[in-house]
Amino acid sequence: MNKHGYYSVGKSYSSDDVLAKPLPKVEDPNRVLTVANAVKYAKAEISLQIQGPVPTEVFEERKRQCVGCEFRMVTDKIPDEIGFCRSCGCGVSERARLTVKLTMPKTSCPQGKWAAYVASDNRKTTVVAAIATKLKGAVQKVLDKLSGGQ
Ligand code: SF4
Repeated sequence: MNKHGYYSVGKSYSSDDVLAKPLPKVEDPNRVLTVANAVKYAKAEISLQIQGPVPTEVFEERKRQCVGCEFRMVTDKIPDEIGFCRSCGCGVSERARLTVKLTMPKTSCPQGKWAAYVASDNRKTTVVAAIATKLKGAVQKVLDKLSGGQ
């Protein structure tokens, strides 16, 4: 992961032949604000908060698909190492950057090129344990405050 908490796309990204192709530059691609899209977005963000980012190999496979995709674009408005998708309806925003979006477990390619990530049983166990630890810590903080008379 890079300093922003996202996976870095690494040197292979910039030296990839596919990247030599000019990409369309648009200010705000096909932003589609619907309830369905808002719900999908919320699910994706929640999955990231609960499960954490997808494993590196899943991110890399998603990235490989996006890098070679005709729907990928870049914009000067918000720079991103991979760019943005013109097909999903998310438009251009910090959270729609592909370096962010590709880390989210419960999101998928609108063109069917990659799917939502389903954690293995081992990973699910780890995630549940991590959530339990966070909850325990939060409950302990509340108890500490209460016992401190504040
Ligand atoms: S999310 Fe799918 S449609 Fe969008 S750029 Fe990536 S591969 Fe292409």
